[in-house]
Amino acid sequence: MSAVVWFRRDLRLEDNPAWAEATSDHDEVRPLFIIDPKLWIPSHRLTQLIAHLHGLDAAIQKSSGRLCVMTGNPATVLKTVLAAGDDLYFNDDYSPYATKRDNAVTYAFGERVKRMNGTAVHAPGTILTNSETPYKVFTPFHRRWADQELPAPARQGKAKVTDDVGEGLPQLSETPLMEGGPKAARKRLAEFEKVVDDYADLRNRPDLDSTSHLSADLKFGTLSPVRVMIEIGSKTPSRAAFVRQIAWRDFYMHLMHHFPHTVEAPLRPEYRDLWWRNDEDAFIKWKTGNTGYPIIDAGMRQLLSEGWMHNRVRMLTASFLVKDLLIDWRWGEQHFMKLLVDGDVAQNVGNWQWVAGTGADAAPYFRIFNPVTQGKKFDPDGDYVRRYVPELSELGSAHIHDPWGAGPLELAAAGIELGDHYPLPMVDHAEARQEALAMYEMARGQSDG
Ligand SMILES: Cc1cc2nc3c(=O)[nH]c(=O)nc-3n(C[C@H](O)[C@H](O)[C@H](O)COP(=O)(O)OP(=O)(O)OC[C@H]3O[C@@H](n4cnc5c(N)ncnc54)[C@H](O)[C@@H]3O)c2cc1C
Repeated sequence: MSAVVWFRRDLRLEDNPAWAEATSDHDEVRPLFIIDPKLWIPSHRLTQLIAHLHGLDAAIQKSSGRLCVMTGNPATVLKTVLAAGDDLYFNDDYSPYATKRDNAVTYAFGERVKRMNGTAVHAPGTILTNSETPYKVFTPFHRRWADQELPAPARQGKAKVTDDVGEGLPQLSETPLMEGGPKAARKRLAEFEKVVDDYADLRNRPDLDSTSHLSADLKFGTLSPVRVMIEIGSKTPSRAAFVRQIAWRDFYMHLMHHFPHTVEAPLRPEYRDLWWRNDEDAFIKWKTGNTGYPIIDAGMRQLLSEGWMHNRVRMLTASFLVKDLLIDWRWGEQHFMKLLVDGDVAQNVGNWQWVAGTGADAAPYFRIFNPVTQGKKFDPDGDYVRRYVPELSELGSAHIHDPWGAGPLELAAAGIELGDHYPLPMVDHAEARQEALAMYEMARGQSDG
């Protein structure tokens, strides 16, 4: 009896439920990756994916097999790869595109398809309120989520692994942001474990680089989220704070599973008709990091150069786009998705809607981050700004987050002429805030009426 394991965003052999089950229940297993041309778009993420495929292949070679790579529409490729009687195993993905694709494949191959959960800690659909409805607020979801028993890690079975490489691995045309494959991911987890106990205190500080950087490993599944939870545990407040972030990740996957329309529409229907200004020039200034607000510009430039941005700064840059520039959150969501190495539909949409106040958030639309006070609080010496906005590197800490507040002598000594070397603020935050509140209140008023 043989089977095919279709790898997608679970690029590991360890604690991979589909791989474990197939290699336990069959004599021979073919590991398969399908290059779907619709998703094969040059980006930081694609480079990282290719690096991870090489790493996965290296892991499979230890079982004397090879990763088989084929290109095409997944349902068509599977028809050619699956021999009569072969079973097909995969771990579920929860984006609307993936769900549609996987449902079509399940329809085509019927009972031969075995679907597992290897992407979330607890499978979307399994954490419900007492009245069996999905949670729309994180805190009660988290309570119930934390009460569940962790799934036992899945172990590889004894099947022979085939060594047909198909078309062969795609080659890297540029250097990935991080070393690819599950072995490198485990090393990153081990490195983070050495500093995890500072997480609760320092996780909001972009200048200190004190978070795990595991988001891309979780996105591609080079690490299992269950394995991460077991390794980190919850013995200290910092470890518990970290695991709570993993719960946020599950929460957004569960929301996407229940409310796939939120990819395009607000979860809260009262915000369907917000009157976005959608100024193209303002959008370009935001994308290129030229807003005149240093913490925003640093974040946007980090995203451009590294394909990653610290969570606090993601919140600030997203809030600035939506609430200071009145630009539709979907514009920002798509820009992030293009550039983020960890770009993930459920996480990105969920977080953008959270910031925009249109999604699953207990603190709603009137929370508007002030980029200056937030900068001073979370990047107190301005080191993060100086790293990504070199025009300001000579400016002292007192005005690094509001250079327009520095005196002419101070600016001259730092070699800065505002409006020339570095832009003046493109909007007045206090005024923009009032306009945003008016826009949201109008939408709410209309929906009440
Ligand atoms: C506007 C916006 C867009 C975002 N888009 C994405 C995205 O496309 N993909 C993505 O993985 N994360 C996204 N996030 C969440 C978060 O910013 C990143 O997961 C985090 O910055 C990754 O860094 P880390 O691994 O060092 O995080 P850590 O602080 O070390 O957290 C550990 C893990 O917990 C999860 N996590 C942490 N914060 C969040 C959160 N707010 N929501 C959901 N999961 C979280 C991630 O899997 C992360 O790797 C977004 C946040 C915002 C505000």
